[in-house]
Amino acid sequence: MTVDGLVEGSTLGITYVHEHLMVKPQSDEPRFADYTLQDEEASTRETDSFRAAGGGTIVEMTPLYYGRNIEAYRRIAHRTGVTVICCTGFHKQEFLPPWFKEKNDTELYELLLDEITNGMDGTGVRPGVIKLGTSLNEITPDEERSIRLAARAHQETGIPISSHCDKGTMGMEQLKRLENLGVDPADVLLCHIDSKLDSAYAIELCREGASICIDHVGRELADHDKTRVKMILALLEAGYIDHVTLSGDMGKVNYLKAYGGKPGFSYILTDLKQELLRSITQKEFFQIMVENPRRIFTGHSEAR
Ligand SMILES: [Zn+2]
Repeated sequence: MTVDGLVEGSTLGITYVHEHLMVKPQSDEPRFADYTLQDEEASTRETDSFRAAGGGTIVEMTPLYYGRNIEAYRRIAHRTGVTVICCTGFHKQEFLPPWFKEKNDTELYELLLDEITNGMDGTGVRPGVIKLGTSLNEITPDEERSIRLAARAHQETGIPISSHCDKGTMGMEQLKRLENLGVDPADVLLCHIDSKLDSAYAIELCREGASICIDHVGRELADHDKTRVKMILALLEAGYIDHVTLSGDMGKVNYLKAYGGKPGFSYILTDLKQELLRSITQKEFFQIMVENPRRIFTGHSEAR
């Protein structure tokens, strides 16, 4: 499900599964200024660079009450030719809307279901993924609710779940809760797992049946992302290459070339690709960038 409705999975192409095109944390604290992307022209240029490097699809992971701008995502998609998939759902505790606590489970569930059925923010654009988030090393009672909501909305609609694991933590705890609620791990993508810098942990999550996203690449440029490359190789050796996705989560002015930062959206498909192809095959790179996202975002079961 994209900003232009349903498309064939085969048209998605190279997919970044966790990015931000336009985003604004709803807080006036100065430390969030860098995480604010509000220049549509710049975001369009950055998306153009992804297209020029061979990119096909971006999954926009800005959830409710985090400065989501569906109209802008649709315009950027149309101007660049990149397919954009949007999300519903909630971020971690710190970024939950003030009304989260005021609404009961039924009201929140109906809100998600309304976005999935009728579209988001009055645009008619329907989400292709449900987000949930947890805090560093803990799951708060509100986040427990968010997990239950996502599980229920997923079961009702078949839309996959993609989660924010703060600095990579709580991935297994999220997964166990979702499984207990009846969610198939194959429908769950755990993001930011590489931030924990622990390949054994990443492998364990894959063994449980979930997919993981390595999405904090491009921060250690001097080191050619050695740590992340090693982690991908460890996952490959363990037999889990079909559970791995790769993205940049570059929702920050310092990371985007069009905003004056680096390395920019093209990095994964240029420098990092070169680095990876020293140790993995083209086919394996294709599996990570095209096949795995296609499977996750079209629903793993053929019935859907
Ligand atoms: Zn993100």
